Amino acid sequence: MIQEYIDLQPYNTFGIKASARFFSQIQRPEDLQKLLTTAELRPIPKLILGEGSNILFTQDFPGLIIKMEIPGIRKIAEDERHIWLEIGAGENWHQVVLYCLQQNYAGIENLSLIPGTVGAAPMQNIGAYGIELEKVFESLIAVRISDGEVQQFKHQDCHFGYRNSVFKTHLKHQYAITSVTLRLNKTPEFSVDYGMLQTTLQQMQVQSLSIRAVSDAVIKIRSEKLPDPRKIGNAGSFFKNPVIAQEHFQHLQLQFPDIPHYPAEDRAVKIPAAWLIEQCGWKGRSMGHAGVHAQHALVLVNYGQASGQAIKQLADEIRASVQEKFAVEINPEVNIY
Ligand code: FAD
Ligand code: NAP
Repeated sequence: MIQEYIDLQPYNTFGIKASARFFSQIQRPEDLQKLLTTAELRPIPKLILGEGSNILFTQDFPGLIIKMEIPGIRKIAEDERHIWLEIGAGENWHQVVLYCLQQNYAGIENLSLIPGTVGAAPMQNIGAYGIELEKVFESLIAVRISDGEVQQFKHQDCHFGYRNSVFKTHLKHQYAITSVTLRLNKTPEFSVDYGMLQTTLQQMQVQSLSIRAVSDAVIKIRSEKLPDPRKIGNAGSFFKNPVIAQEHFQHLQLQFPDIPHYPAEDRAVKIPAAWLIEQCGWKGRSMGHAGVHAQHALVLVNYGQASGQAIKQLADEIRASVQEKFAVEINPEVNIY
Protein backbone atom coordinates (compact mmCIF):
# COMPACT_ATOMS: atom_id res chain seq x y z
CA MET A 1 0.00 0.00 0.00
CA ILE A 2 1.23 3.48 -0.83
CA GLN A 3 0.40 6.29 1.58
CA GLU A 4 0.67 9.98 0.75
CA TYR A 5 2.02 13.04 2.59
CA ILE A 6 3.44 11.10 5.52
CA ASP A 7 5.06 12.87 8.47
CA LEU A 8 8.61 11.53 8.80
CA GLN A 9 9.23 12.77 12.35
CA PRO A 10 8.47 9.35 13.93
CA TYR A 11 10.69 7.68 11.34
CA ASN A 12 14.01 9.42 12.06
CA THR A 13 15.86 9.36 15.38
CA PHE A 14 16.87 13.03 15.02
CA GLY A 15 13.13 13.71 15.35
CA ILE A 16 13.25 16.13 12.41
CA LYS A 17 10.01 17.36 10.92
CA ALA A 18 9.77 16.54 7.21
CA SER A 19 7.27 14.77 5.01
CA ALA A 20 7.31 12.15 2.28
CA ARG A 21 5.15 12.64 -0.81
CA PHE A 22 4.69 8.83 -1.00
CA PHE A 23 5.48 6.19 1.63
CA SER A 24 5.32 2.40 1.58
CA GLN A 25 6.19 -0.21 4.23
CA ILE A 26 7.58 -3.44 2.82
CA GLN A 27 7.34 -6.79 4.63
CA ARG A 28 8.04 -9.17 1.69
CA PRO A 29 10.76 -9.01 -0.99
CA GLU A 30 8.19 -9.81 -3.70
CA ASP A 31 6.18 -6.71 -2.74
CA LEU A 32 9.31 -4.63 -3.14
CA GLN A 33 9.92 -6.05 -6.61
CA LYS A 34 6.32 -5.37 -7.56
CA LEU A 35 6.64 -1.78 -6.38
CA LEU A 36 9.89 -1.23 -8.27
CA THR A 37 8.49 -2.65 -11.51
CA THR A 38 5.26 -0.63 -11.44
CA ALA A 39 5.48 1.54 -14.54
CA GLU A 40 3.86 4.67 -13.03
CA LEU A 41 6.33 4.66 -10.13
CA ARG A 42 9.48 4.31 -12.27
CA PRO A 43 10.20 8.04 -12.74
CA ILE A 44 9.62 8.90 -9.07
CA PRO A 45 12.76 9.35 -6.90
CA LYS A 46 13.03 6.68 -4.21
CA LEU A 47 14.69 6.47 -0.83
CA ILE A 48 15.10 3.29 1.20
CA LEU A 49 14.58 3.76 4.92
CA GLY A 50 15.36 1.48 7.86
CA GLU A 51 14.85 2.87 11.35
CA GLY A 52 16.13 6.32 10.40
CA SER A 53 19.00 6.28 12.91
CA ASN A 54 21.63 7.49 10.44
CA ILE A 55 19.66 10.03 8.43
CA LEU A 56 19.22 13.79 8.49
CA PHE A 57 16.26 15.15 6.52
CA THR A 58 16.94 18.75 5.51
CA GLN A 59 13.83 19.01 3.33
CA ASP A 60 10.60 17.19 2.47
CA PHE A 61 11.18 14.12 0.32
CA PRO A 62 9.41 14.65 -3.03
CA GLY A 63 9.29 10.97 -4.05
CA LEU A 64 8.61 7.54 -2.57
CA ILE A 65 10.11 6.43 0.74
CA ILE A 66 10.30 2.65 1.01
CA LYS A 67 10.54 1.55 4.64
CA MET A 68 12.15 -1.88 4.96
CA GLU A 69 10.35 -4.14 7.42
CA ILE A 70 11.18 -7.59 6.01
CA PRO A 71 11.41 -9.96 9.02
CA GLY A 72 13.06 -13.32 9.63
CA ILE A 73 16.14 -15.05 11.06
CA ARG A 74 16.94 -18.37 9.42
CA LYS A 75 19.85 -20.76 10.00
CA ILE A 76 20.93 -21.77 6.49
CA ALA A 77 24.15 -23.72 7.11
CA GLU A 78 26.49 -25.01 9.80
CA ASP A 79 29.89 -26.70 10.07
CA GLU A 80 32.14 -27.53 13.05
CA ARG A 81 33.19 -23.88 13.48
CA HIS A 82 30.47 -21.68 12.01
CA ILE A 83 26.77 -21.00 11.68
CA TRP A 84 25.32 -19.05 8.77
CA LEU A 85 22.22 -16.94 9.46
CA GLU A 86 20.13 -15.31 6.75
CA ILE A 87 18.38 -12.30 8.25
CA GLY A 88 15.58 -10.13 6.84
CA ALA A 89 16.57 -6.50 6.21
CA GLY A 90 13.85 -5.19 8.52
CA GLU A 91 15.02 -7.04 11.63
CA ASN A 92 16.33 -4.78 14.38
CA TRP A 93 20.11 -5.16 14.64
CA HIS A 94 20.29 -5.29 18.44
CA GLN A 95 17.52 -7.90 18.61
CA VAL A 96 19.67 -10.05 16.30
CA VAL A 97 22.64 -9.55 18.64
CA LEU A 98 20.46 -10.69 21.56
CA TYR A 99 19.26 -13.71 19.55
CA CYS A 100 22.88 -14.68 18.82
CA LEU A 101 23.83 -14.34 22.50
CA GLN A 102 20.94 -16.61 23.41
CA GLN A 103 22.03 -19.22 20.85
CA ASN A 104 25.69 -18.79 21.84
CA TYR A 105 26.69 -17.61 18.35
CA ALA A 106 29.77 -15.38 18.62
CA GLY A 107 31.03 -12.50 16.49
CA ILE A 108 28.67 -9.53 16.92
CA GLU A 109 28.72 -9.04 20.72
CA ASN A 110 30.89 -5.87 20.36
CA LEU A 111 28.17 -4.44 18.11
CA SER A 112 25.51 -4.56 20.84
CA LEU A 113 23.00 -1.72 21.09
CA ILE A 114 23.75 -0.18 17.69
CA PRO A 115 20.37 1.19 16.59
CA GLY A 116 18.84 0.41 13.20
CA THR A 117 17.99 -2.44 10.89
CA VAL A 118 20.01 -5.37 9.59
CA GLY A 119 19.50 -4.11 6.01
CA ALA A 120 21.25 -0.83 6.78
CA ALA A 121 24.21 -2.49 8.55
CA PRO A 122 26.26 -3.17 5.37
CA MET A 123 25.67 0.38 4.09
CA GLN A 124 28.36 1.84 6.33
CA ASN A 125 29.85 -1.45 7.53
CA ILE A 126 28.67 -0.71 11.06
CA GLY A 127 31.40 -0.82 13.63
CA ALA A 128 32.15 -0.33 17.29
CA TYR A 129 34.81 -1.30 19.81
CA GLY A 130 37.19 -2.68 17.22
CA ILE A 131 34.74 -4.90 15.30
CA GLU A 132 33.07 -4.14 11.99
CA LEU A 133 30.21 -5.94 10.28
CA GLU A 134 32.55 -7.12 7.52
CA LYS A 135 34.23 -9.51 9.98
CA VAL A 136 31.08 -11.69 10.04
CA PHE A 137 29.54 -10.70 6.71
CA GLU A 138 29.03 -13.48 4.16
CA SER A 139 26.69 -12.03 1.50
CA LEU A 140 23.51 -10.06 0.93
CA ILE A 141 20.56 -9.99 -1.42
CA ALA A 142 19.52 -6.67 -2.91
CA VAL A 143 16.97 -5.50 -5.45
CA ARG A 144 18.02 -2.98 -8.10
CA ILE A 145 15.84 0.10 -7.60
CA SER A 146 15.74 1.01 -11.31
CA ASP A 147 14.20 -2.27 -12.53
CA GLY A 148 13.55 -4.67 -9.62
CA GLU A 149 16.35 -7.09 -10.60
CA VAL A 150 17.48 -9.31 -7.72
CA GLN A 151 21.22 -9.61 -7.15
CA GLN A 152 23.54 -11.31 -4.67
CA PHE A 153 26.57 -9.41 -3.33
CA LYS A 154 29.39 -11.42 -1.80
CA HIS A 155 31.90 -9.93 0.61
CA GLN A 156 34.34 -8.80 -2.10
CA ASP A 157 31.52 -7.11 -4.07
CA CYS A 158 30.69 -4.80 -1.17
CA HIS A 159 34.10 -3.03 -1.00
CA PHE A 160 33.80 -2.54 2.74
CA GLY A 161 35.92 0.18 4.30
CA TYR A 162 35.93 2.29 7.43
CA ARG A 163 32.21 3.21 7.83
CA ASN A 164 31.90 2.67 4.12
CA SER A 165 30.80 0.27 1.38
CA VAL A 166 30.02 0.26 -2.32
CA PHE A 167 26.42 1.20 -1.37
CA LYS A 168 27.63 4.57 -0.07
CA THR A 169 29.94 5.19 -3.03
CA HIS A 170 29.49 4.16 -6.66
CA LEU A 171 26.27 2.17 -6.11
CA LYS A 172 24.74 4.86 -3.91
CA HIS A 173 20.89 4.91 -4.05
CA GLN A 174 20.89 2.04 -6.56
CA TYR A 175 19.96 -1.00 -4.43
CA ALA A 176 17.52 -1.98 -1.72
CA ILE A 177 19.00 -4.65 0.54
CA THR A 178 16.41 -7.29 1.43
CA SER A 179 18.47 -9.80 3.45
CA VAL A 180 21.95 -10.23 4.91
CA THR A 181 23.78 -13.50 5.62
CA LEU A 182 26.21 -13.54 8.54
CA ARG A 183 28.81 -16.19 9.37
CA LEU A 184 29.01 -16.53 13.14
CA ASN A 185 31.46 -18.47 15.26
CA LYS A 186 30.79 -21.39 17.57
CA THR A 187 33.95 -20.54 19.51
CA PRO A 188 34.37 -16.86 20.34
CA GLU A 189 37.40 -14.83 19.25
CA PHE A 190 37.29 -11.97 21.74
CA SER A 191 38.26 -8.43 20.80
CA VAL A 192 38.44 -6.33 23.95
CA ASP A 193 41.38 -4.02 23.24
CA TYR A 194 39.39 -0.78 23.28
CA GLY A 195 40.36 0.97 26.53
CA MET A 196 36.85 1.63 27.81
CA LEU A 197 35.79 -1.94 27.12
CA GLN A 198 38.72 -3.38 29.04
CA THR A 199 38.20 -1.03 31.99
CA THR A 200 34.48 -1.77 32.13
CA LEU A 201 35.02 -5.53 32.06
CA GLN A 202 37.44 -5.10 34.98
CA GLN A 203 34.96 -2.91 36.86
CA MET A 204 32.29 -5.55 36.31
CA GLN A 205 34.74 -8.05 37.83
CA VAL A 206 34.30 -10.47 34.96
CA GLN A 207 36.29 -13.58 35.88
CA SER A 208 36.03 -15.55 32.66
CA LEU A 209 35.32 -13.74 29.43
CA SER A 210 32.11 -14.65 27.57
CA ILE A 211 30.18 -13.12 24.68
CA ARG A 212 27.44 -12.22 27.18
CA ALA A 213 29.96 -10.37 29.39
CA VAL A 214 31.35 -8.42 26.41
CA SER A 215 27.84 -7.49 25.30
CA ASP A 216 26.86 -6.42 28.85
CA ALA A 217 29.99 -4.24 29.07
CA VAL A 218 29.29 -2.62 25.70
CA ILE A 219 25.66 -2.00 26.69
CA LYS A 220 26.77 -0.47 29.99
CA ILE A 221 29.25 1.93 28.34
CA ARG A 222 26.84 2.94 25.60
CA SER A 223 23.91 3.49 27.94
CA GLU A 224 26.00 5.74 30.17
CA LYS A 225 27.71 7.71 27.42
CA LEU A 226 25.32 8.11 24.49
CA PRO A 227 22.10 10.11 24.48
CA ASP A 228 19.01 7.91 24.02
CA PRO A 229 17.29 9.04 20.79
CA ARG A 230 13.91 8.34 22.41
CA LYS A 231 14.68 11.14 24.87
CA ILE A 232 16.84 13.48 22.80
CA GLY A 233 16.99 13.45 19.01
CA ASN A 234 20.32 12.34 17.52
CA ALA A 235 21.84 10.01 14.93
CA GLY A 236 24.90 8.84 16.88
CA SER A 237 28.27 10.10 15.68
CA PHE A 238 27.62 12.81 13.14
CA PHE A 239 31.15 12.74 11.68
CA LYS A 240 33.55 9.95 10.81
CA ASN A 241 36.95 9.96 12.49
CA PRO A 242 39.39 11.48 9.99
CA VAL A 243 42.27 9.37 8.75
CA ILE A 244 45.29 11.49 7.83
CA ALA A 245 48.75 10.94 6.38
CA GLN A 246 51.65 10.20 8.76
CA GLU A 247 53.47 13.44 7.76
CA HIS A 248 50.40 15.57 8.43
CA PHE A 249 49.98 13.88 11.80
CA GLN A 250 53.62 14.49 12.81
CA HIS A 251 53.21 18.14 11.94
CA LEU A 252 50.05 18.39 14.08
CA GLN A 253 51.68 16.53 16.96
CA LEU A 254 54.40 19.19 17.18
CA GLN A 255 51.70 21.82 17.70
CA PHE A 256 49.34 19.66 19.79
CA PRO A 257 51.43 17.11 21.72
CA ASP A 258 48.32 15.61 23.43
CA ILE A 259 46.52 14.79 20.20
CA PRO A 260 45.03 11.27 20.54
CA HIS A 261 45.73 8.96 17.62
CA TYR A 262 45.41 5.36 16.46
CA PRO A 263 47.13 3.53 13.62
CA ALA A 264 45.05 3.15 10.44
CA GLU A 265 45.65 1.19 7.23
CA ASP A 266 48.57 2.06 4.93
CA ARG A 267 50.59 3.77 7.70
CA ALA A 268 47.93 6.47 8.02
CA VAL A 269 46.71 7.81 11.37
CA LYS A 270 43.14 7.98 12.74
CA ILE A 271 42.29 10.98 14.93
CA PRO A 272 39.13 10.95 17.08
CA ALA A 273 36.87 13.63 15.56
CA ALA A 274 35.33 14.17 19.01
CA TRP A 275 38.69 15.47 20.29
CA LEU A 276 39.12 17.85 17.36
CA ILE A 277 35.60 19.21 17.84
CA GLU A 278 36.06 19.60 21.58
CA GLN A 279 39.34 21.47 21.07
CA CYS A 280 37.45 23.93 18.88
CA GLY A 281 35.16 24.66 21.84
CA TRP A 282 32.01 23.04 20.50
CA LYS A 283 31.27 20.46 23.18
CA GLY A 284 27.98 21.31 24.92
CA ARG A 285 27.34 24.37 22.71
CA SER A 286 24.03 25.04 20.95
CA MET A 287 22.74 27.12 18.08
CA GLY A 288 19.03 27.45 18.81
CA HIS A 289 17.61 23.94 19.20
CA ALA A 290 20.56 22.30 17.44
CA GLY A 291 23.44 21.40 19.71
CA VAL A 292 26.60 19.43 20.39
CA HIS A 293 26.01 16.93 23.17
CA ALA A 294 27.63 17.84 26.49
CA GLN A 295 29.02 14.32 27.07
CA HIS A 296 29.97 13.46 23.51
CA ALA A 297 31.25 16.09 21.07
CA LEU A 298 30.68 13.82 18.07
CA VAL A 299 26.94 13.61 18.65
CA LEU A 300 24.81 16.47 17.32
CA VAL A 301 21.43 16.71 18.98
CA ASN A 302 17.99 18.12 18.38
CA TYR A 303 16.88 19.73 21.63
CA GLY A 304 13.28 19.86 20.39
CA GLN A 305 12.33 21.95 17.42
CA ALA A 306 15.56 22.05 15.39
CA SER A 307 15.09 21.79 11.64
CA GLY A 308 17.29 19.55 9.51
CA GLN A 309 18.75 22.73 7.98
CA ALA A 310 19.71 24.00 11.46
CA ILE A 311 21.53 20.74 12.29
CA LYS A 312 23.27 20.87 8.92
CA GLN A 313 24.32 24.48 9.48
CA LEU A 314 25.77 23.59 12.88
CA ALA A 315 27.64 20.67 11.29
CA ASP A 316 29.02 22.96 8.57
CA GLU A 317 30.29 25.44 11.16
CA ILE A 318 31.95 22.66 13.15
CA ARG A 319 33.63 21.33 10.01
CA ALA A 320 34.89 24.79 9.10
CA SER A 321 36.41 25.41 12.53
CA VAL A 322 38.14 22.01 12.62
CA GLN A 323 39.51 22.71 9.15
CA GLU A 324 40.75 26.13 10.23
CA LYS A 325 42.40 25.03 13.49
CA PHE A 326 43.86 21.68 12.41
CA ALA A 327 43.75 21.69 8.59
CA VAL A 328 41.84 18.41 8.90
CA GLU A 329 38.67 17.67 6.94
CA ILE A 330 35.94 15.91 8.89
CA ASN A 331 33.15 14.35 6.87
CA PRO A 332 29.62 13.42 7.92
CA GLU A 333 28.87 9.81 8.62
CA VAL A 334 25.15 10.60 8.71
CA ASN A 335 23.29 10.43 5.37
CA ILE A 336 21.98 13.91 4.56
CA TYR A 337 18.89 14.35 2.35
P1 FAD B 1 18.63 4.41 8.20
O1 FAD B 1 19.07 5.56 9.03
O2 FAD B 1 17.18 4.24 8.00
O3 FAD B 1 19.37 4.49 6.80
C1 FAD B 1 20.75 4.75 6.71
C2 FAD B 1 21.18 4.73 5.24
O4 FAD B 1 21.06 3.41 4.72
C3 FAD B 1 20.30 5.59 4.35
O5 FAD B 1 21.11 6.12 3.33
C4 FAD B 1 19.29 4.63 3.77
O6 FAD B 1 18.81 5.05 2.51
C5 FAD B 1 20.10 3.36 3.66
N1 FAD B 1 19.36 2.11 3.87
C6 FAD B 1 18.72 1.73 5.01
N2 FAD B 1 18.23 0.49 4.86
C7 FAD B 1 18.55 0.08 3.63
C8 FAD B 1 18.32 -1.11 2.89
N3 FAD B 1 17.65 -2.15 3.40
N4 FAD B 1 18.78 -1.17 1.62
C9 FAD B 1 19.47 -0.14 1.06
N5 FAD B 1 19.71 1.00 1.72
C10 FAD B 1 19.28 1.11 2.99
N6 FAD B 1 26.70 3.19 13.65
C11 FAD B 1 27.82 2.45 13.76
O7 FAD B 1 28.37 2.01 12.74
N7 FAD B 1 28.38 2.17 14.96
C12 FAD B 1 27.83 2.60 16.12
O8 FAD B 1 28.33 2.31 17.18
C13 FAD B 1 26.65 3.40 16.05
N8 FAD B 1 26.07 3.90 17.17
C14 FAD B 1 24.96 4.67 17.07
C15 FAD B 1 24.39 5.18 18.26
C16 FAD B 1 23.25 5.95 18.20
C17 FAD B 1 22.66 6.48 19.48
C18 FAD B 1 22.64 6.22 16.96
C19 FAD B 1 21.36 7.01 16.89
C20 FAD B 1 23.19 5.74 15.78
C21 FAD B 1 24.37 4.96 15.83
N9 FAD B 1 24.99 4.46 14.67
C22 FAD B 1 26.11 3.68 14.76
C23 FAD B 1 24.42 4.74 13.34
C24 FAD B 1 23.27 3.79 12.94
O9 FAD B 1 22.81 3.07 14.04
C25 FAD B 1 23.71 2.79 11.87
O10 FAD B 1 24.22 3.46 10.75
C26 FAD B 1 22.57 1.89 11.41
O11 FAD B 1 23.07 0.86 10.60
C27 FAD B 1 21.47 2.63 10.67
O12 FAD B 1 20.36 1.76 10.51
P2 FAD B 1 18.94 2.31 10.11
O13 FAD B 1 18.07 1.14 9.83
O14 FAD B 1 18.43 3.25 11.14
O15 FAD B 1 19.27 3.08 8.76
P1 NAP C 1 35.87 6.45 22.47
O1 NAP C 1 36.04 5.17 23.22
O2 NAP C 1 35.66 7.72 23.22
O3 NAP C 1 37.11 6.63 21.48
C1 NAP C 1 37.14 7.74 20.59
C2 NAP C 1 37.51 7.26 19.21
O4 NAP C 1 38.82 6.73 19.25
C3 NAP C 1 36.59 6.16 18.75
O5 NAP C 1 35.68 6.71 17.85
C4 NAP C 1 37.50 5.10 18.17
O6 NAP C 1 37.45 5.02 16.75
C5 NAP C 1 38.90 5.52 18.54
N1 NAP C 1 39.50 4.50 19.42
C6 NAP C 1 39.37 4.37 20.76
N2 NAP C 1 40.11 3.32 21.20
C7 NAP C 1 40.69 2.78 20.10
C8 NAP C 1 41.57 1.68 19.89
N3 NAP C 1 42.00 0.93 20.92
N4 NAP C 1 41.95 1.40 18.62
C9 NAP C 1 41.52 2.14 17.60
N5 NAP C 1 40.69 3.19 17.73
C10 NAP C 1 40.29 3.52 18.97
O7 NAP C 1 34.67 6.27 21.42
P2 NAP C 1 33.11 6.38 21.59
O8 NAP C 1 32.66 7.56 20.83
O9 NAP C 1 32.70 6.22 23.01
O10 NAP C 1 32.63 5.12 20.78
C11 NAP C 1 32.99 3.81 21.14
C12 NAP C 1 32.81 2.92 19.95
O11 NAP C 1 31.46 2.91 19.51
C13 NAP C 1 33.64 3.36 18.74
O12 NAP C 1 34.10 2.24 18.05
C14 NAP C 1 32.66 4.14 17.91
O13 NAP C 1 32.95 4.10 16.53
C15 NAP C 1 31.34 3.44 18.20
N6 NAP C 1 30.23 4.40 18.15
C16 NAP C 1 29.79 4.76 16.93
C17 NAP C 1 28.74 5.64 16.81
C18 NAP C 1 28.20 5.99 15.44
O14 NAP C 1 27.17 6.61 15.36
N7 NAP C 1 28.88 5.63 14.40
C19 NAP C 1 28.13 6.19 17.94
C20 NAP C 1 28.65 5.81 19.16
C21 NAP C 1 29.70 4.91 19.27
P3 NAP C 1 36.38 4.17 15.91
O15 NAP C 1 35.15 5.01 15.88
O16 NAP C 1 37.05 4.08 14.59
O17 NAP C 1 36.16 2.87 16.56
